Amino acid sequence: MRWSRSLIPTLREDPADAEAISHKLMVRAGLVRQLAAGIYVYLPVGLRILNKVNTIIREEMNAIGGQELTMPVLHPAEIWQQSGRWDAIGGEMFRLKDRNQRDMCLGMTHEEVIAWLAAHEIRSYRNLPQVWYQIQTKERDEARPRSGVLRTREFLMKDSYTLDPDHAALDKSYNDHKGAYCRIFDRCGIEYVVVDSDPGMMGGSGSHEFMAPSAAGEDDVALCDGCGYAANVELARGVPAQGVPPAWTFGEVATPDARTIAEVCALLGIEPAVTIKSLVFMGPEGPVLALVRGDHALHERKLARALRAEPRPAQADEVREHLGVPVGFVGPVKVSGVSRIVADESLRQGSYATGANRDGCHLTGVVPGRDFQCEWADLQTVLPGEACPACGTPLRVARVIEVGNIFKLGTKYSVPLGAVYLDEQGRERPIVMGSYGIGPARIAAAAVEQRHDADGIIWPWSIAPFQVHLIPVAIRDAAQASAAEEIYRDLTGAGFEVLMDDRDERAGVKFKDADLLGVPIRVTVGQGFIKQGLVEIRERGTRRERRVTRAEVVATVGDVGRKLSGG
Ligand code: ATP
Ligand code: MG
Repeated sequence: MRWSRSLIPTLREDPADAEAISHKLMVRAGLVRQLAAGIYVYLPVGLRILNKVNTIIREEMNAIGGQELTMPVLHPAEIWQQSGRWDAIGGEMFRLKDRNQRDMCLGMTHEEVIAWLAAHEIRSYRNLPQVWYQIQTKERDEARPRSGVLRTREFLMKDSYTLDPDHAALDKSYNDHKGAYCRIFDRCGIEYVVVDSDPGMMGGSGSHEFMAPSAAGEDDVALCDGCGYAANVELARGVPAQGVPPAWTFGEVATPDARTIAEVCALLGIEPAVTIKSLVFMGPEGPVLALVRGDHALHERKLARALRAEPRPAQADEVREHLGVPVGFVGPVKVSGVSRIVADESLRQGSYATGANRDGCHLTGVVPGRDFQCEWADLQTVLPGEACPACGTPLRVARVIEVGNIFKLGTKYSVPLGAVYLDEQGRERPIVMGSYGIGPARIAAAAVEQRHDADGIIWPWSIAPFQVHLIPVAIRDAAQASAAEEIYRDLTGAGFEVLMDDRDERAGVKFKDADLLGVPIRVTVGQGFIKQGLVEIRERGTRRERRVTRAEVVATVGDVGRKLSGG
């Protein structure tokens, strides 16, 4: 491709609203432009990168027996009503009416369409298993579209779905996908970890997320370097060290102005690890008291799992109305007005200070299980340094970008949508489904987050928009221009994808743009060629430079390319 005839609108300045590095660099490198919040145009070079990623995805999906199809973006409401998600999903779904006032929505994901299709097309066990996938546009009215292409309202997703006769067969399909995903992320050159995750709105019985470590991520994972334990913090358990309480006995103390954990600790001269934080939530059966240690944070998803409902934090006036105590003095001992008390596992041992359910008073020396009864659950958000639940090694907590995830759905969609088959005995059974997603744009952005320097992007060979960035330094110099033309022809002929910067621009501008764009190999034809007949070959990542004769260019690019592609 010739730069002079291409749309590659590079910018010197970061876009004003951008925080994530990938957002800044992808806009500055002329890969994408934002049409509206979370809605992006992919410019020609940006599209080349996406297509590279998509090709790798297709190859790996086909290798596990995937069959590509494509499903509509516009869906009738009925299938979503049948699955129950028409009501279960809130503002994230774009809804509209057609001219006949029929409810429609824009597809956020395609479990319903797949189950509908299976209900119509799958008859017998002989038709199973099936692996269906598409690389197609999803529409989600994300609450906070941000970080450039990492979280957009319209985005490309590779989504695949497996149809199996039973759970054992699903396990195999699931493992095939897990392997394919690892190969996809390996080949795309991004660093990632595979973690246990909470299936959330997808439902089902098991799931994993593929997480690319990056400060621009929105998820946290707990990782154990000892045994490899890895889980999303929505799920991860850590074993915290026990707090050491003072020698206290059960009793009430006056704490007139101490409402927060910090205030109570200051007043009583104790550490937060020997206090209990009593949090009131509103659940479907009324107020719920959730207890975590004073130095811990409650994870709302963990509470939701324990309650099998989505509770919301109670307002101060609701606490007073139902429990008869002001916030700050609530505690589990002889509390009234709550339907359930759920305590974090870490409170099974030890004795604590808690609210006394009396204005201006706390209790000390409270022993859970002796002084109050409760249900036990894992509620706290794991903290770095807590012990791994499997091997005891201190855990790390890392910020990550979710680039893919896989779910065992089971029969959650096949039952309501009537996706059944006849088994060998002629009995009707629901199809057992799996669902698997990958975001190609997130892969590209994660690669940028993980691989850049002060000057720009450093693309992995496999997903680089071009492999060679060819620069005739002075295009008006006939000798340089014609040598560059020949090299362009030779490299292209040898199968390399080459971008030739044939613009009549200053050398500095061209070099800056080359660093920004991040093509792995730069080939420069300049004064060195005129004077000594030498062409400069430079690796973008290491900045290593070598000078070779005109005749050696193709072979040298081949050597460097083999090294960079790991082949
Ligand atoms: P998140 O928790 O980040 O919102 P998700 O769990 O909603 O992601 P899925 O519905 O499982 O994501 O989608 C599968 C994949 O699609 C994700 O792993 C991610 O790579 C990509 N993806 C999801 N939402 C977006 C988005 N808003 N913009 C870009 N890519 C996305
Ligand atoms: Mg989401």
